[in-house]
Amino acid sequence: MQSIYDFTKEKLEEFFLEKNEKKFKATQVYEWLYKKRINSFEEMSNISKNTIKLLEENFSIDKLKLITSQSDIDVDKYLFGLSDGNKIEAVLMHHDYGYSLCISTEVGCNMGCLFCESGRLKKVRNLLPSEMVLQIIQVEEIKKVRISHIVLMGIGEPFDNYDNVIDFVNIVNDPKGIDIGSRHITISTCGLIPKIKEFSKFDKQVNLAISLHAPNNEIRNKLMPINKAYPIEELIGTLKEYIKLTNRRLTFEYIMLNDVNDSKECALELANLLKGMNAYVNLIPYNSTSNDSLFKKSDKEKIMAFYDTLKKNGINVTIRKEFGSKVMAACGQLRANYEEVK
Ligand code: SAH
Repeated sequence: MQSIYDFTKEKLEEFFLEKNEKKFKATQVYEWLYKKRINSFEEMSNISKNTIKLLEENFSIDKLKLITSQSDIDVDKYLFGLSDGNKIEAVLMHHDYGYSLCISTEVGCNMGCLFCESGRLKKVRNLLPSEMVLQIIQVEEIKKVRISHIVLMGIGEPFDNYDNVIDFVNIVNDPKGIDIGSRHITISTCGLIPKIKEFSKFDKQVNLAISLHAPNNEIRNKLMPINKAYPIEELIGTLKEYIKLTNRRLTFEYIMLNDVNDSKECALELANLLKGMNAYVNLIPYNSTSNDSLFKKSDKEKIMAFYDTLKKNGINVTIRKEFGSKVMAACGQLRANYEEVK
């Protein structure tokens, strides 16, 4: 049975209309699910018995199963089980401005980036909108907090699961739904050009982050197989057009890998590549993975020097704060480690 949490409000309205019921029932159901956070259809006390029966016959309202979690001062990681036994991670980061949840969008990932733990497991399947929505609802319930920001930077490539991700954003952003503002939602992609073009037509001011990680094709080809399909100059060209069309906020993510992409020449080349674009660069300290034989973290001095070079050349740049990395597994590793221990 399909989960009730898969439905955008519009799709739920269509369902009710098809069943000869009033469209406004979708809004009532939404309020019970997302404002009052009930766990069963029976609890929807202003909805008629017949409608409740209709809901029970057509939809499930099940939650994800919490398998394990890990906490540090400023971060909590959750491993959830899906109804088919697959497992996904969600990571809650505590910022001074609020709580931000890093959401997974797929079971596994087919992009195969060499520095990334997620790619160790090839894509098994897309996550449904409900499986993304429930990551938010359940973390809020477990931690007893309100999440103010969402980043689609967990396991998976959001633009390789485009339609479900768009439904998810619509559910989360709906004022009658979870009601997180579009400017507080960030989708991160390794650069699937056709989907970036499609996304420029989406009607919400959602932020886009691009995992760039290199200033040229030579280095990017080695790190990210997707660059062979969508080379860097085409990607940047598409993004310039994207900014012109949407005026939305754009970030470039750049993992600092020792002696791979962190030289002064790389910084100058990157500054040149991004010159004149209304965007900023987020430098990310590398989290160690099972591929540590290939990559080492750039040291602080090198990251600072890279930062300075970009700044001097007119690029907006920040360095990503590291969350509890001393005791915590890095991205994608809670699941990986859990599987190994079992
Ligand atoms: N597929 C999407 C979203 C998932 S990855 C994308 O490529 O953007 C989210 C971010 O985490 C990306 O910028 C990714 O490159 C980064 N990341 C992956 N492995 C990492 C590691 N070992 N250390 C630091 N960042 C990593």
